[in-house]
Amino acid sequence: MKIAVLPGDGIGPEIVAQAVKVLDVLKSDGAKIEMETAPIGGAGYDAAGDPLPEATLSLARAADAVLLGAVGGPQYDALDRPLRPERGLLRIRKELNLFANLRPALLYPELASASSLKPEVVSGLDLMIVRELTGDVYFGQPRGIEIRNGERVGFNTMLYSESEVRRVAHVAFGIAMKRGKKLCSVEKANVLECSELWKEVMIEVSKDYPEVALSHMYVDNAAMQLIRAPKQFDTMVTGNIFGDILSDAASMLSGSIGMLPSASLDQNNKGMYEPIHGSAPDISGKNLANPLATILSVAMMYRYTFADLATADRIEGAVKKVIAQGLRTGDIWTEGTQKVSCSEMGDAVVKSL
Ligand code: NAD
Repeated sequence: MKIAVLPGDGIGPEIVAQAVKVLDVLKSDGAKIEMETAPIGGAGYDAAGDPLPEATLSLARAADAVLLGAVGGPQYDALDRPLRPERGLLRIRKELNLFANLRPALLYPELASASSLKPEVVSGLDLMIVRELTGDVYFGQPRGIEIRNGERVGFNTMLYSESEVRRVAHVAFGIAMKRGKKLCSVEKANVLECSELWKEVMIEVSKDYPEVALSHMYVDNAAMQLIRAPKQFDTMVTGNIFGDILSDAASMLSGSIGMLPSASLDQNNKGMYEPIHGSAPDISGKNLANPLATILSVAMMYRYTFADLATADRIEGAVKKVIAQGLRTGDIWTEGTQKVSCSEMGDAVVKSL
């Protein structure tokens, strides 16, 4: 298995180094993996004048999976838009056709006090949101700002083809099959034709997965239910814009942004794996960042691209163990637990592996 390692900017190199330590352990245990590193984001701009250098894209195309840190930083904010680090990220997702974004929201019972919700509402939460990533109102044409009747109007097009809905539906049902066999499809079919089609296709695809209980929820209600009683959900599937908002809300249920991994998959389960957080310029270079989201991204890589569930479980188990041991980076530290640095956390996971 070839893994393209793209550390990126800010804390990216620090957290990716910890994930690479984990991969090195697996390699020394006999896993047949090859890793190659390349710059992306601001580092890509610095190295080659492009946030997604051609050589990085070629490496990512040739790889079975991509491990990404984070991109961005204040020193790049004044660049022309196409040269900004975030553009490199959007382009690589599009170029690799990564249409299904998987965002788990998981709360270790020991970290329940880090959530802004009551511990009993969130403790033990284990939810997966599947967000369609390459369609919807973010990409639909026509779009623009123009003059109509003497004033400016802004417009976008919410658009899904049935094939786009069907492919993400299959990913979501497949994931629900591996989890609690409950899938909630979120849309706004009471108002939007685009959502009406989404719902129809979900129902059609559900016939291929008779074991999965499919339910439907309007997005406004889903936003409310996620905060009121998030543990009612197992797997959710939704379009690009609704998923953008709901997955950010869900990630906050777990209290720390430094704990949550993500995956973006193509049709063949090739994937890009990355923590959901950004490059955290405020703590970069200080060995303070929480590397667990990145290490858990490696677990997702094993689960979804390499289909090696035992190794995925092994990595997740090692993370659970260090949390249970009371080791905490600053972002999840509370009184009575032991504060450790980014590299110490990486070492602890390696040890418990
Ligand atoms: P951020 O996620 O980088 O940071 C938000 C806050 O969370 C900061 O206080 C940071 O210190 C903390 N934090 C984030 N990750 C952490 C970790 N692993 N351990 C401990 N604390 C952590 O978001 P931001 O500050 O809005 O953005 C900073 C830069 O990151 C910007 O340039 C932005 O464009 C970029 N960004 C990149 C991605 C990505 O690469 N996928 C995502 C979001 C933001």
